[in-house]
Amino acid sequence: TFEQSRLLKSLPKQFFASLVQKVNKVRAEGHDVINLGQGNPDQPTPQHIVERLKLAAEHPDNHKYPPFRGKAELKQAAADFYLKEYGVHLDPEKEIAILFGGKAGLVELPQCLLDPGDIMLVPDPGYPDYWSGAALAKVHMEMMPLKEENDFLPSFNDIPKEIGDQAKMMILNYPNNPTGAVANEDFFRQTVEYASAREICVVHDFAYGGIGFDGKKPTSFLQLEGAKETGVEIYTFSKTYNMAGWRIAFAAGNASVIEAINLMQDHQYVSLFGAVQDAAAEALLGPQEAAAEISAMYEKRRDVFISSLQEIGWDVKSPKGSFFAWLKVPSGYSSLDFSDLLLDKARVAVAPGIGFGEHGEGYVRVGLLTSEERLKEAALRIKELEIF
Ligand code: PLP
Repeated sequence: TFEQSRLLKSLPKQFFASLVQKVNKVRAEGHDVINLGQGNPDQPTPQHIVERLKLAAEHPDNHKYPPFRGKAELKQAAADFYLKEYGVHLDPEKEIAILFGGKAGLVELPQCLLDPGDIMLVPDPGYPDYWSGAALAKVHMEMMPLKEENDFLPSFNDIPKEIGDQAKMMILNYPNNPTGAVANEDFFRQTVEYASAREICVVHDFAYGGIGFDGKKPTSFLQLEGAKETGVEIYTFSKTYNMAGWRIAFAAGNASVIEAINLMQDHQYVSLFGAVQDAAAEALLGPQEAAAEISAMYEKRRDVFISSLQEIGWDVKSPKGSFFAWLKVPSGYSSLDFSDLLLDKARVAVAPGIGFGEHGEGYVRVGLLTSEERLKEAALRIKELEIF
């Protein structure tokens, strides 16, 4: 056996691997678990996108190496999409980079722009892969607490001056995983102001950009004046188009950041399978009804689930976007104890808030990734615990 490198051993523990193990153990004992702990969309990719893949897979051009830095048609489609959806003008060659999923881009970005010891501002609670990116680049994370009283937006006034002045990158994510919060233009305006005054590169993770509720379309960071000078947005196909298995996303915005990502990728990959890129272009340019239906489906599930929990006496709030609900645990329990209780006694798996950072303590995250019936059933099972 060979020992792992110091770098590999220094990476943060993958908290959610243990959750999967726990669920598998209970299932192996013969129990029916309603698994709301993970973030894997449960519905298939819209058929017109799959059909495009099939056709594209037959095309011999796609059997060769794809063009370095991705297909021009897909980058043009991404630019057209941003113009149509958000009124944002992007240069397809200089301001868009194709990624092997949002995760890869988010993990690579600190290595592209920061040096060991540099400071990166990270939301807490937040998507744990940001920590992996920081560890691989050996940069120092400063956490920005997301508090309920501030609608789960970070407060820039609370960032100590010496930290803000030294920070080189800031990660934001709205609609937010895990809290389900959304950001409005005013918040992004403050972000541009704060970051541009300190030359901080903003990385806005727009993974749930297609999933907004109550008639409100989530704001793109790039819609703000000055945003392109300040950073990039990561747009993934995984959630909006139920394409999590396809591993494709893109970064859009600041040309120097896009060049850095492309350069990093030149050293690691050629590009994605051309047929996947063709199908992704179809997702962006083709009919958008399916994407609207996906968002509406999560909104219905949210309404059903939140009202079922309120009916059993759990005081919970409705998320405004993403497909997660962020629920306060009853007093007397840690988030881990409470999740274990729900799994062991109600056979409902949820993700403990502490897995998303220190400020996630006191909450659990529920993924609205099963049918309305199963969500109602989950609420009934929780009711039987007679906690509320
Ligand atoms: N960002 C957030 C907040 C996520 O929740 C996810 C996926 O769960 C991603 C990024 C990564 O998405 P993907 O790598 O599938 O594009």
